[in-house]
Amino acid sequence: MNQSRRLFCKTSLGAGCLSAGTRSSLARKPSGPDKAELDRILAQPVLRRDLFPAPVKIESLELLRDGKQFLMRVRSAEGAESITVPNNSRVLDVYPMLIGNVFPYFIGKDARDLETHLWEVYRYQSNYKFQGLAFWVCVATVEMALLDLLGLISGKPIGEMLGGVRRREIGVYRASGNRGNTPEAEIDYLRKVVAETGAKAIKFRLGGRMSGNADSLPGRTEALIPLVRKTFGSDFTLYGDSNSSYDVANAIRIGRLMEENKYAMFEEPCEFDDLWAHKQVSDALSIPVGLGEQEFSMRRFQWTIENRAADIMQPDLHYFGGYIRCTRVARMAAAAGMPCTLHLSESGFAYLNILHFASYVQDPGPFQEFKGETGIPFLCDTSPLKCRNGKVLCPSGPGFGIKVDPDYIRKFRPVQEV
Ligand SMILES: [Mg+2]
Repeated sequence: MNQSRRLFCKTSLGAGCLSAGTRSSLARKPSGPDKAELDRILAQPVLRRDLFPAPVKIESLELLRDGKQFLMRVRSAEGAESITVPNNSRVLDVYPMLIGNVFPYFIGKDARDLETHLWEVYRYQSNYKFQGLAFWVCVATVEMALLDLLGLISGKPIGEMLGGVRRREIGVYRASGNRGNTPEAEIDYLRKVVAETGAKAIKFRLGGRMSGNADSLPGRTEALIPLVRKTFGSDFTLYGDSNSSYDVANAIRIGRLMEENKYAMFEEPCEFDDLWAHKQVSDALSIPVGLGEQEFSMRRFQWTIENRAADIMQPDLHYFGGYIRCTRVARMAAAAGMPCTLHLSESGFAYLNILHFASYVQDPGPFQEFKGETGIPFLCDTSPLKCRNGKVLCPSGPGFGIKVDPDYIRKFRPVQEV
C-alpha cells in the first residue's frame, strides 16, 4: 500500500476502507504539518469582517430562564436583537461565571471584533485561571449569540460568515448512550434509532467509561462489536466510543477487534487527557482514533495534530468556546489530512449548531451526530430540520436560520443574581 493510500485509509471514516491484516503496514506515522505551520494557520482570521461596514455595539447581554431552560438575548445599540439557545445542562451549573466573569467584558464592545474578544475575555480579570469546560461553555454561549446577531444584521447564515457554505445536506449518524444492557438489548435499541432516521451510520458505547479496563457488563464489548456488524451489514458505517475506558494494551486489543469488523472510528480509547497513550494506540492501529470532546486547550489540539496522537479531531462547540475556536481546530486538522467531526453534548439545539459547522468546514467527516428533534418550539422556513434518509438540511436563513417561538420566550425571565 503506497503512502497516499495509507493516508486515505487512516483518515477515512467511510465503511469498507479498512481491512484486517493491514495493521502493520499502517503503523508508521504519516508526516503532518509542523508547529510553525500550525501557528500560521491559527493566526488566520475566521470571521469575515468585510460583511459588516458599520459598528455593531453590544448594548446588553441577558441570560433568560424558565425552570431549567435558558435562552440568551443580545441587543445592539443599533436596535438588532437575537435570541439563541445555549447548552442548557451546562449553563445550569456555570451561569454565575457567565454573568459575573464573561458578560461584563463584552458590554459596549463592537461585535465585529469577535475574534479579538475571544482572546481578551480570556485575559479579562484573569479569566484564563478558570480555563476549562466551565469557562469556555460561557464564552461559547456569548459567541453563538453574537454570531446570530451578526447574521441577522448581514443577512448571512453562520457558514457564510465563517468561510463560505460548501454543503447544506448533512449526513448524520445516531448514537446510543447505553451501557450495562445486554448485547441483544442494545441491538434492539440500535435498530429502533436507525428506523427512526434512516441513518446509515451508528455509534455505540464500548467498555465501562473511565473504568480502568472494566466492561459495563462482562464480555459485552467483545460480543457487541461483531454482532453490530453482522446485524447491520457491510454497508453501514460503525463507530465505537469507549469514553476513556482502556489502558494502551486493552485499547489496542479492542481496536484490533474493531478493525477485523471494519469499524470506521474508535473514540476516546484511553483516558482523554493522556495524549501519549492515544499516540501509542493511534500509531499501532489502522482504525482512525477519535479524540477531543473534553479538550479545552487550543495548544493541546495543536500538539495532538502535530504529533498525530489521534486521527479525527472531535472538539465540542460548547465545551471548547464556540465556532471560531473549533474552526481553528478544523483548519489545523485539515492541514494534516484529518477530519474534524464535532462532539455533541446537548440535546437542545446543539444538533442545529453542528449542522452549521458541517456546512462550511473543509472536512467535517461524512456523518454528524444527530440526537433527534428538540422540544423547543421554533420556526424555520429554509429547512424542516428533520432527518430523512440519513440526512438533515442545514438552514440557509440569517444567523442560525431559525426563530424561537415568541410564546415560548414569553415565559422566560432575566437571571439577575450572581
Ligand atoms: Mg464520546
